[in-house]
Amino acid sequence: MSKQTNILLIYTGGTIGMVKDYASGALKAFNFKKLLKNIPELAQLDCNIDSVSFDKPIDSSNIDTTHWIHIAEIIEVHYESHDGFVVLHGSDTMSYSASALSYMLENLAKPVIFTGSQLPIGDLRTDAKENLITSIQIAALQEKGRAVIQEVGLYFEYKLYRGNRTTKINAEHFEAFASMNYPPLVESGVHLKVYYENLMPKKRTKQLVVHHSLDNNVAILKLFPGFNASILHAVLETRNLKALVLETYGAGNAPTENWLISGLRAAIKKGLFIVNVTQCSGGSVLMGQYETSEQLKKLRIINGKDITTEAAITKLMYLLGGKITPKTFKTIFETPLRGEMQ
Ligand code: ASP
Repeated sequence: MSKQTNILLIYTGGTIGMVKDYASGALKAFNFKKLLKNIPELAQLDCNIDSVSFDKPIDSSNIDTTHWIHIAEIIEVHYESHDGFVVLHGSDTMSYSASALSYMLENLAKPVIFTGSQLPIGDLRTDAKENLITSIQIAALQEKGRAVIQEVGLYFEYKLYRGNRTTKINAEHFEAFASMNYPPLVESGVHLKVYYENLMPKKRTKQLVVHHSLDNNVAILKLFPGFNASILHAVLETRNLKALVLETYGAGNAPTENWLISGLRAAIKKGLFIVNVTQCSGGSVLMGQYETSEQLKKLRIINGKDITTEAAITKLMYLLGGKITPKTFKTIFETPLRGEMQ
């Protein structure tokens, strides 16, 4: 008889476990043990489920880097004893968290599946049960004694995506996430359909390495028609700012105004890392395709290619935390580390 798979549920908070505060009408986090009592179906799953909860479950809008480090530590402590991990998390910042964890967990050879829901688990029409039950089943998938999924995924509304490729695109629909530049890893219908060709390659020998250091001296600057020099300078002169995601138009284009190009040039000269990421939800930066991106290319701005903003900002935090030398920073950023870019 094959051994039962051990799954660890990590409850951080989010709508999935919230209840209505009848005085104010607002949703607030709930006790995890009570939450589990609402899902008797879990007992029917063919795996052993343990759980760990944040002492104080949070709405994911309150997530910061210390929470990511905490999640990584929980996984590190339970890595040998468990075959897969399901992180229950609010959907608002789930793509950021899944991206951050993908970098922090180097050589990950087991599934870490982020999931949550748009409606609380106690709600009659909840999407929480399907999301949770299927996430556990995906985390428990094994072939020849090894995990099928060996990366950080995000499961929502019948699809498992690579976590660092996702973006929350809808605050209303059950289908809240999209992965515009990378196909799904698994689809759930009558059967679970695994798209093996889309998975990260299997890890053979290397040990899990958990990176605990993140540097949040980073910012995102989104261009818009009418964007002016004083805003640019206010951002570029932010104290301790080390890296910036510049959200440009289309295939990585920006105004050709001299004040913009010279401002960026001066900041780069002083040591600021600037990444060009497109505001479009799909497609890629292609610097040099238009006159409006030629100057950026000449400045040797880092090419974000088809990375999402969520994966870019967290990659910056991870690389800055890792003390990469300035000389190699651009090359390392432009290299896919966890399948986050082409
Ligand atoms: N505000 C909630 C959160 O992100 C929304 C959700 O869980 O879907 O925690």
